[in-house]
Amino acid sequence: MSKITDLSKSRYCKGIQCPKILWLDHYKPEEAEDVLSETVMANGNLVGDLARSYFGEYSLVEFSFDKSEMTARTQEFIGSGAMNIAEAAFLTDGLYCAVDILHKNGDGWDIVEVKSSTHLTDIYIEDMAFQYYVLTNCGIKVKHVYNMHLNSFYVRRGELDLKGLFTLEDCTDKALELYDSVAERVAAIRAYVSVTEEPKRELDVYCNKPYECAYKKYCGRHLPEHSVFDLAGMQARTAYKHYHNGIVSYEELLANAKKIKLNPKHRRQIESTLNSAPDEVDKAKISEFLGTLSYPIYHLDFETYQQPVPEFDGVSPYQQIPFQYSLHIEQEDGTLEHREFLAKEGTDPRRALAEQLVKDIPKGVCSLAYNMSFEKTVIKRLAETFPDLADALMDIHDNMHDLMIPFKDQSYYSAAMQGSYSIKFVLPALYPDDPELDYHNLEGVHNGGEASAAFAEMTSHTPGEIAEIRANLLRYCGLDTYAMVKVLRKLKEAVSKN
Ligand code: SF4
Repeated sequence: MSKITDLSKSRYCKGIQCPKILWLDHYKPEEAEDVLSETVMANGNLVGDLARSYFGEYSLVEFSFDKSEMTARTQEFIGSGAMNIAEAAFLTDGLYCAVDILHKNGDGWDIVEVKSSTHLTDIYIEDMAFQYYVLTNCGIKVKHVYNMHLNSFYVRRGELDLKGLFTLEDCTDKALELYDSVAERVAAIRAYVSVTEEPKRELDVYCNKPYECAYKKYCGRHLPEHSVFDLAGMQARTAYKHYHNGIVSYEELLANAKKIKLNPKHRRQIESTLNSAPDEVDKAKISEFLGTLSYPIYHLDFETYQQPVPEFDGVSPYQQIPFQYSLHIEQEDGTLEHREFLAKEGTDPRRALAEQLVKDIPKGVCSLAYNMSFEKTVIKRLAETFPDLADALMDIHDNMHDLMIPFKDQSYYSAAMQGSYSIKFVLPALYPDDPELDYHNLEGVHNGGEASAAFAEMTSHTPGEIAEIRANLLRYCGLDTYAMVKVLRKLKEAVSKN
């Protein structure tokens, strides 16, 4: 059974972020919230498995709960002259690591750490320095340490090209710089977690970086209902600075407004919350915005998903791939017509979606999106991919308006929006307690992340389940554009009121 002072590479990295995470993992794991999405984990596994073939044939050390079994197997592979060993396991003095790929290099070995991200981050270097330390202490001659991550510039053309898909970054010098501090850090983490009484630890930027900590709710249980951490758009570093200076509650922030140079938007957020202020409406500015629209209005919303390893030609890692849209067509008298598209699961959805879109939205009409930069980026990419449809697609792109503007510039402001202009805050603020517009009442798919995941994994389901998932996706995306219709109505009502 492992001890709290035993450190794997992931536990070491957690300990670097904040040693209290390890203490809580051991003594109060029930306080952890789910912060790592299943999609992120699945992407990591997919990329890790694929990367093993980067150098050619490899020997795999199968997972076992018995670490000594894995280390013995690793030694067997080394002894038998293997050139590449995946999950090569090493254990010394309670420090354990499984190297993603151990690659033979002359009379020594290269450590290759594989990540499903598209760039190198500081915590990866800590991770590699730890592996360097463990392997060296196990008597392995380490020649290089590499980080292998996805190359965001790679565009798939035909067969997958692993050398193009992955970028191999030499991090030997960076890992060496940290090498001497590993023993010290291990000792500090072990001393911290060895106490049985809950150790004190202040909230700080490390609660969010490099990873969102699962214990934020638990460690922040002393915070008032409205605190500096609720101010929309405030940088984490600034919020923690005020927190450490004892300026935490909305009342304390107001009392110190001059000293901390509280900006007008934050002051508005605080004052409207404390005073339960009624909605504020700048009729002139909203009228100006409404004047830019013309009927019929085509309310449009896309759903997209990303593939770390592109399955289709012309796609890069993590490129947004549109697979669904909803379109509510609104006439001046309020009449609505609904159209929608949802690609067949397991297929490249782009061509069929683009063709249907240009049929559904005629040239020259006014289209509306909420946060249109996203929709515009998707349309532009489709136009680049399908030159024969580019004219029609770019016409939609060029005639698009953004429903977010009156909320972003606070022409319409409600305390319930909590300083945010995201539709997820704006909609319930405009229509509180309306079950028809409540995303919680939907089945299966409640947000964009769930929609992406549902489409990406749909082929792994039975036909009956697929039918249900498709129905859930259609209801979810349909609500997105219906919500836009309702938001626009609220703006029109606001300017027509005396
Ligand atoms: S919430 Fe912050 S202080 Fe608490 S365990 Fe996580 S990182 Fe540490």
